[in-house]
Amino acid sequence: MTKHIFVTGGVVSSLGKGLTSASIGMLLESRGLSVRMQKLDPYLNVNLGMMSPAQHGEVYVLDDGSETDLDLGHYERFTQSRLTRDSSWTTGKIYSKLLKKESQGAYFGQTVQVIPHVTNEIKECIRRLASDDTDVVITEIGGTVGDIESLPFLEAIRQFSLEVGKENCLYIHLTLVPYLKAARELKTKPTQHSVGNLRQIGIQPDFVVCRTEQTLSEDDARKIALFCNVPFECVIEERDAQSSIYEVPMTLLEHRLDSLIVQKLGLKCNQADLTEWQEILNRLRNPSQEVTIAVVGNYTRLKDAYKSIYEALDHGGVANHAQVRFRRIQSDSIDREDVQRTLEGADGILVAGGFGEDGIEGLISAVKIARERQIPFLGICLGMQCAAIEYARNVLNMPEVGSTEFDRHCETPLVCLMDEERKAAGEEVTRLGSKPTVLIPGTKIAGIYGATDIAERYRHRYELNNAYREQLENGGMVVAATNADGKLIEALELPSHPWFIAVQYHPQFKSRPVAPHPLFVDFIKAALAQSDGAKRG
Ligand code: GLN
Repeated sequence: MTKHIFVTGGVVSSLGKGLTSASIGMLLESRGLSVRMQKLDPYLNVNLGMMSPAQHGEVYVLDDGSETDLDLGHYERFTQSRLTRDSSWTTGKIYSKLLKKESQGAYFGQTVQVIPHVTNEIKECIRRLASDDTDVVITEIGGTVGDIESLPFLEAIRQFSLEVGKENCLYIHLTLVPYLKAARELKTKPTQHSVGNLRQIGIQPDFVVCRTEQTLSEDDARKIALFCNVPFECVIEERDAQSSIYEVPMTLLEHRLDSLIVQKLGLKCNQADLTEWQEILNRLRNPSQEVTIAVVGNYTRLKDAYKSIYEALDHGGVANHAQVRFRRIQSDSIDREDVQRTLEGADGILVAGGFGEDGIEGLISAVKIARERQIPFLGICLGMQCAAIEYARNVLNMPEVGSTEFDRHCETPLVCLMDEERKAAGEEVTRLGSKPTVLIPGTKIAGIYGATDIAERYRHRYELNNAYREQLENGGMVVAATNADGKLIEALELPSHPWFIAVQYHPQFKSRPVAPHPLFVDFIKAALAQSDGAKRG
């Protein structure tokens, strides 16, 4: 029988429920259990790909092409849980499904209501992950307890334990225990109220996990236990991660959350084996060198907008025993005259993906600096498109080239809609998800992967125009990867440069601390060599 863990949050948003859920998943997997994870978000959006990264953070893409919330990135980085479109639901998606059924007459004249119809749909989403080979399903409920829009989800998870039995379900509530400087005290009242709210709905949490800046005293923990009606040992302190998010599982382990979960759910499993994770933490805590990477993109103002890129760079750092320092550069703020100064001191330059026409010239001038000054360069998606444009304009003497994304009537479109089907549908169709990608033997990138047949995740609409392929290649740019039938250009590299690689796909989505992505590992290695060279020079 699959067991279920529900994670809710209270007091404030952005408490790190995603990280806590992912950490719990990771701890359970380290005991040999098989875990599946999902997030149920109370907002109404149906198409998460339309949500602005500058407002909501990164759109995380799964193998199956679903565009999801960035918390799913944490799930994939911390666990091996297989994520699919079943791992990401919103109120909007649930209602769409339900309304479609209703219009097809599935409810046979009944009055369709939030309870039981919407809650039944929600329970169905949860049940769907509970396959025979899954020991534990972890379901994170987005939003904050007390919000009107979370109510159907909370009601559904309450009902769920009635159906599968209390012994098969467990509720973890994450709250904030704020520190009041003036009083020099941690305050437990918001936590008491938040759990009170949850209990009113009929959910008695099994654990209260407390995010705090300061150590929770025994008195505070006893107070929370008493008022929230949980045993003392089930009040778990989660101190703000000092140095890295990858410390979170250790904090939970220290407070025995994993063994208490295993005990409560009656799970048969091994002791946690965290040797590999511990090794990563040791490297994170004791780097032997440092490297500065400039991340240039349309949305760098919000730290979360390129979440997976920063994480993947960190993973590359860990693999090289190096600490990565980030310089986040918003492309529309790059003054073309001043770009050199903005990028001064960067050992590597990464030009990230993005949509629309803002800040394009800034991205292109960042590529130019990287190319001319021989600074290691990694271009991702829009970053690759800009790399091609920069090369054509400044090296191949084709000053007019552009992309139809930012100049609809561009007469020399080096980047445009290539696929006939997508062309017919206008720019609305995005190429999404994992696709077989062929690396050309003998290229630098093939050497880095140590393979030629790979699969990477895509999320874009425009392509490099094959009409200019020969000109690019004759001019010294190497097409280093294509799609399976060789028709789409998926990577470029410049042999005349120490490390210049640009890819149409998003390698950051497949990097994990325990399995860092080879491109990021090699990019950081090249940036370290650059940094050494600069010191010597
Ligand atoms: N805007 C570009 C396209 O649609 C690049 C997309 C991206 O960087 N994710 O092709």
